[in-house]
Amino acid sequence: MIILLKNHADETQVASLQNWLKSMGYAIHMSVGQQQTIMGLIGDTSRLDIDVIKSLEIVENVQRVQEPYKSANRKFHADDSVVEVGAGLKIGGGHFQVIAGPCSVETEEQIVYVARRVKAAGAGLLRGGAFKPRTSPYAFQGLHEEGIRLLLLAKKETGLPVVTEIMDIAHLPLFEEVDVIQVGARNMQNFELLKVLGQTRKPILLKRGLANTIQEWLMSAEYIMAGGNDNVILCERGIRTFETATRNTLDLSAVPVLRRLTHLPVVVDPSHATGKAELVKPMAAAATAAGADGLMIEVHNDPPHALSDGAQSLTPEAFEDVMATVNAVRPYACR
Ligand code: PEP
Ligand code: MN
Repeated sequence: MIILLKNHADETQVASLQNWLKSMGYAIHMSVGQQQTIMGLIGDTSRLDIDVIKSLEIVENVQRVQEPYKSANRKFHADDSVVEVGAGLKIGGGHFQVIAGPCSVETEEQIVYVARRVKAAGAGLLRGGAFKPRTSPYAFQGLHEEGIRLLLLAKKETGLPVVTEIMDIAHLPLFEEVDVIQVGARNMQNFELLKVLGQTRKPILLKRGLANTIQEWLMSAEYIMAGGNDNVILCERGIRTFETATRNTLDLSAVPVLRRLTHLPVVVDPSHATGKAELVKPMAAAATAAGADGLMIEVHNDPPHALSDGAQSLTPEAFEDVMATVNAVRPYACR
């Protein structure tokens, strides 16, 4: 349920309404926006009499929220959320960011070189996997702890905040200096992992599961937010369909759909969505035009010899070209 408060509502009366609702066991989510102040209630509100609350002097309107996601719901927070990453970098609410880097961190030379190149081309964050979710147990699994160390070295060299994937709760202490923790598609519904990440205050990049609906995805965001961590960024990376010409099918309509349903920032990963380097530019341009808050793009110094996802990785030169197109499209983006 959301309670829309009147402009300039008496603060003492607002506090006493809050205390009364808390005493009945509801969690309260206050959102003070530019236009309106919204009090969001989480809990079983079926026993609350809407008319009684509506009759209060400070209340403009009351509305039940049918959707099962509450904190992630746009009705709870009318303005776009802006997630702050590291020192001063913002994403969402008009702040557009490109996250770029290799699928996997491979060597110091590789990650530092790619970091320098993507930064020069305009990327705001560096990505690089240290724990890799590979379909085959015989494929390269990532450098693990050493991969995170090298990624942090590249951060020190370039100043770029870093994004890397967590696969196991037990590894969380290794992520202390990581700026954004990625939850990969395969772990979108690893609820125990999501609950633990909800206890941190780190920005979480939550990728969409391979075969998950938008509502299921938002419920996973809700798991993180229910723990008090509102710093969630959603990442559309394509879903499984019958189509085999691309690695996945990029669900671009998820961008405007999410814009209505949630206040959380949405980024698009055209690399994992298509699996082909030559498709990254048109899909990056389309995602930008559709109103995404950012992109995640795989870039490698030597794609044919990459230890993972070489076929979809751009060279630094190709990434510069994609950035030029994305920047040209940005003024026309739908919001
Ligand atoms: C990745 O970002 O390298 C990755 C494994 O992505 P996804 O979880 O979307 O497959
Ligand atoms: Mn990858």
